[in-house]
Amino acid sequence: MNKIIFTGTSSGYPSKTRACSSFVIKSVAKLYQFDAGEGVSGSIQRCKLDANEIDRIFISHLHPDHITGLFLELQMMYLDNRKKPLNIYIPREATKGLEKTVDLFYLFRGKFPFKFDFLPIGSNPVFRGKEITVNAYPNLHLAGNKPVIKKCRKSNKMQSFSYIIRCEGKNVLYSGDLTEQDDIGGLLKGIHTAIVEGLHVDLQSLFRACMTRKVKRLVLTHLPDETLKKPRRILKIAEKAGFKQPIIAFDGLQLKI
Ligand SMILES: [Zn+2]
Ligand SMILES: [Zn+2]
Repeated sequence: MNKIIFTGTSSGYPSKTRACSSFVIKSVAKLYQFDAGEGVSGSIQRCKLDANEIDRIFISHLHPDHITGLFLELQMMYLDNRKKPLNIYIPREATKGLEKTVDLFYLFRGKFPFKFDFLPIGSNPVFRGKEITVNAYPNLHLAGNKPVIKKCRKSNKMQSFSYIIRCEGKNVLYSGDLTEQDDIGGLLKGIHTAIVEGLHVDLQSLFRACMTRKVKRLVLTHLPDETLKKPRRILKIAEKAGFKQPIIAFDGLQLKI
């Protein structure tokens, strides 16, 4: 039985009780990780997962709350004397920068007991294996940076992705970060479980869209602590939209697929 295990559910602001964004799909043989926000290594241990079983990591975009945990995770795997190779799928714009960053952090490939590679997200499927297939869909989460990128003459390409993971005949959507719910409007059809960030979306529109597209299960993550203090408010909005209860993710939450 495959499971989704949430290893980081905080918003972009560090939380006292939650790690930044990440979750793991646990299949019979392997683990597949999505995003690697700060705190993911400790969270993997608290969830009693073996990091050496992580087969692949898929990064949605380059905000620190989705990727900065990756470097300590690589260090943890190094110290655990991992032998299995690791593929890390990243927005293409990050390829050169990440190669430089691992060297900057003294995570030299030459001393690692395992091979790790940064693979740019290209055409779909991004990955097709025996247990899961992963497709990536660009979203507009970073598009608001265009004026400052232009003004400061930066080379950033604003690449940000949502993922659809096909697993045991079911589709799981991971929104990554969005600008608004419309970014994933076209992806909701045929989705069994939608894992959607609740920070940048209008919840009422999201609940309505999930209802119209017959999403079976909605899991909200990436919610600010302030919102999490009032879960009833979220449930009230859902009720008003006629949506059956959404699940509010927390670190350690496990859901069967
Ligand atoms: Zn974020
Ligand atoms: Zn973001």
